Amino acid sequence: MSDAVTASSEDLFAQSVRYFPGGVNSPVRAFRAVGGTPVVVAEGRGAHVTDIEGRTYLDYVGSWGALLLGHAAPEVVAAIAQAAARGTTYGMATPYELELAGLIQDAFPSMERMRFVSSGTEAAMSSLRAARGFTGRSKVIKFAGCYHGHADSLLAQAGSGLATFGLPSSAGVTAGAVADTIVLPYNDPAAVREAFATRGDEIAAVIVEPVAANMGVVPPQRDFLPALREVTASAGALLIFDEVITGFRVARGGAQERYGIRPDLTCLGKIAGGGMPLAVYGGRADVMDVLAPLGPVYQAGTLSGNPLAVAAGAATLRRLAEPGVYDRLESLASRLEVGLREAAHRAGVRCAVVRLASMLTVFFTSGAPHDYTQAASADTDAFARFFHAMRERGVLLPPSQFEAWFVSLAHSAEDVTRTVSAAGEAFRAARR
Ligand code: PMP
Repeated sequence: MSDAVTASSEDLFAQSVRYFPGGVNSPVRAFRAVGGTPVVVAEGRGAHVTDIEGRTYLDYVGSWGALLLGHAAPEVVAAIAQAAARGTTYGMATPYELELAGLIQDAFPSMERMRFVSSGTEAAMSSLRAARGFTGRSKVIKFAGCYHGHADSLLAQAGSGLATFGLPSSAGVTAGAVADTIVLPYNDPAAVREAFATRGDEIAAVIVEPVAANMGVVPPQRDFLPALREVTASAGALLIFDEVITGFRVARGGAQERYGIRPDLTCLGKIAGGGMPLAVYGGRADVMDVLAPLGPVYQAGTLSGNPLAVAAGAATLRRLAEPGVYDRLESLASRLEVGLREAAHRAGVRCAVVRLASMLTVFFTSGAPHDYTQAASADTDAFARFFHAMRERGVLLPPSQFEAWFVSLAHSAEDVTRTVSAAGEAFRAARR
């Protein structure tokens, strides 16, 4: 590490490519969507990260939404240290899992039974397996632009026409692996009704980001989630809310609390693990009881319910149960939204600032997108110029147009003011 801190980001990244494909352990970190040398982080504190050259940035990546309390929140660090002193993993049941489960169920009453896993990918993949095991059906509906991790069957893109089966969206995923995945447009209840009308008795589940955040922030239109609930229930299929981002973010009880819809299964991750590798899937007891050792659906994990991750999650969720937390986030983020919109307007830049709770996307589009096709029409070159201009001014945004900026409890009103003022200049730089 002493070498690392004296190296430039360029040098360090040049070393990284000798070890890791593209120099990274997850592709978006390579900054391919915006160009330039990736940020190589040495540490994070509160709302800031510092790179290995000592440049400090106001951070809106927040580990892709995992850090609602900000970096190195003292109560989370202390909880992890205490847990680590008792041992880092046992591969056996512990009492510590119970507290986290209780905090989760208090916020998500629909999660009558749950299971801890280590990543959002596992949560989404396992929830589909449980849904298929429970219903005895094969097909799954997902929506274009929603991301549910990188399990093979979920790396599908829309084929031509509605209700056609998915095509692989990644090399290495076979046509067979996505043959049971139906990809439909987001916010299009008619497409869902049509799919159920033609093959409703084959559909095990609909999985959805109840507020999409992986094509940039695209909220559900008013009738979308109620339609999904109604159609799945009447066809005997399950509704799965992937709340890996929205859980504890758009409300303590996630999108299901905010929109008053009770899904059959829910996936959580990110905030629920307090910045440690932990995710959760759970829901109706009768569905979850298909899992081994009670039932025939197998799912397991050496590090599942890891005591450090469980401690970090519980410390985070305890804080989020305190009064005023979500009001503070709402007020900060709405100030940011309004300020950015005004700054863009003053700079004469056409864009849509879309915010829900403490997540936000500045789309370089002429209007707020409602689905992936509209989001994908964004001017990604303008976004890249905006991104770099913000970075030069000490503000780190997610390095892609199709991601959400995350406001945390560690951000202050002054941070928001600074961001808006940087954006005033950055919007001018983005124009061209
Ligand atoms: N679901 C959603 C909604 C996500 O945003 C993500 C990751 N950003 C995942 C699942 C996958 O989670 P992980 O990266 O922990 O595998």
